[in-house]
Amino acid sequence: MAAQRLDGRACATEVEADLLGRVSALKAQNIEPHLAVIIVGDDPASHVYVNSKIKTCARLGIRSTHISLPVSEKESTLKQHIQDLNNAEDVHGILVQSPLPNHMDEEAITDLIAPEKDVDGFHPQNLGRLVQGRTNGMLPCTPSGVLRMLRWANIDLEGKRAVVVGRSRIVGMPAALLLAARGADATVTVAHSRTQELEAVCKEADILVAAVGRPDMVKPSWVKPGAVVVDVGINRVDDATRERGWRLAGDVDPGVAEVASWLSPVPGGVGPMTIAMLMENTVRAAELVHDR
Ligand code: NDP
Repeated sequence: MAAQRLDGRACATEVEADLLGRVSALKAQNIEPHLAVIIVGDDPASHVYVNSKIKTCARLGIRSTHISLPVSEKESTLKQHIQDLNNAEDVHGILVQSPLPNHMDEEAITDLIAPEKDVDGFHPQNLGRLVQGRTNGMLPCTPSGVLRMLRWANIDLEGKRAVVVGRSRIVGMPAALLLAARGADATVTVAHSRTQELEAVCKEADILVAAVGRPDMVKPSWVKPGAVVVDVGINRVDDATRERGWRLAGDVDPGVAEVASWLSPVPGGVGPMTIAMLMENTVRAAELVHDR
């Protein structure tokens, strides 16, 4: 039996419908939610991501400011932009698109963003709150999108065995923390490149989250029949049959659909949820200013 589709686009549409109402309520109080996005360099994929964030802002009535800096820009200039945006009362969210050029220290840049404007949820204060089990702050967008999509599909997590493959600061680790947090209550294993017998570890999972960056790595034989599989991976692979010469592939082999009960597609799964959660964090940041 083919797995049901964990449809991130449909879930994101519902999140957006809710946000439209919240944006109107803020505007009625003369507050216009405002996201500032900074991009450094000319990586084509990063520009596609930024444009799609800006388009979503426009659709929801969120104001956006787009700052594009050349790849040779000094780190001190980027830092000055962040300080200015931290000080700007009408800016509620600040996002610095990753990756940054090699001469810039991504962690130092993240540390500089005011935690209450850190709509990516990567600031140590926001990640620290998550470690403490305080899940009402700025949560990292991709992992919180994964959890929202699972809840939307009414997937029961309590007491279930979850395996997260990947332990990055941005995706894997916060996803594991959210799955283990009170309210979600899964029993979580974090796997990574040094994990032994990864296939056997994955096969124990009721909920399997793949956040690795290796196309089609998780094979049907790695998946317990009936498991829920979330594919976070976004990988470009060569494909001569496409006009552009490439296609997107997830970290999960599409054949897993024959074994799993639910599977998120790539594209159309976690990707749209990441943007929806970014929008939600921005609206929330604006609401919090108002509540202060
Ligand atoms: P990172 O490269 O930061 O982390 C990858 C993780 O996978 C690491 O923890 C690494 O282990 C682990 N890993 C690598 N190779 C293996 C292996 N052979 N076996 C087991 N584990 C392995 O990537 P990100 O977390 O930033 O992203 C992961 C994927 O998610 C990428 O495809 C990325 O494009 C995608 N992504 C998608 C988003 C979305 O919106 N859908 C948003 C962000 C990312 P170790 O720590 O030991 O090196």
